[in-house]
Amino acid sequence: APTIGVLALQGDVREHLRVLRELGVEPVTVRRVAELDACDGLVIPGGESTTMAKLARTFEIFEPLRDRIKQGLPVFGTCAGMILLADRVLDGAAGQETFGGLDVTVRRNAFGRQVDSSERDLELAGLAAPVHAVLIRAPWVEEVGDGVEVLARVADGPAAGRIVAVRQGPLLATSFHPEVGGDSRVHEMFVDLVREASA
Ligand code: GLN
Repeated sequence: APTIGVLALQGDVREHLRVLRELGVEPVTVRRVAELDACDGLVIPGGESTTMAKLARTFEIFEPLRDRIKQGLPVFGTCAGMILLADRVLDGAAGQETFGGLDVTVRRNAFGRQVDSSERDLELAGLAAPVHAVLIRAPWVEEVGDGVEVLARVADGPAAGRIVAVRQGPLLATSFHPEVGGDSRVHEMFVDLVREASA
């Protein structure tokens, strides 16, 4: 079975570990390069993207992770994790760094100007029934490159049409938090991506 890690520097690590365990994956926490090296796939949780990037520097895992992503490591980023996968960030903190890999422009705290957090049901490409999406000071994707598949958009309200889930090869990212709310289908999609990549 492939080894799936959860980047455990900051954020909602436990929630991701729980969903992965429910899916029968025995996840590992990742703070050090040796732990990253053992992974066939990695989840970057929600939390605070600037803090996570700084801690990645402190733990000397920033460059190794950036390189692994370039080499094709499957990664699933939720919320702050989506920001950290993005090649370009709008409304970022001064000097905000990302691991990159995903050819998108995200706007940080994009929904935050209207409302700090919200919940809604979204149609997500590849899933038969809508997914319950919890958005907490969430980014949206403002622009996607050619190789990026849009999986979900906000259906209505002031943010109607905004992109909130994308995939590019083995990289998957959501603005929302599938790790909260008891729906494991998006994680299942990711586990399938990891299985495909390591087959
Ligand atoms: N607003 C956070 C950031 O910019 C992301 C919020 C979240 O992950 N729930 O990093």
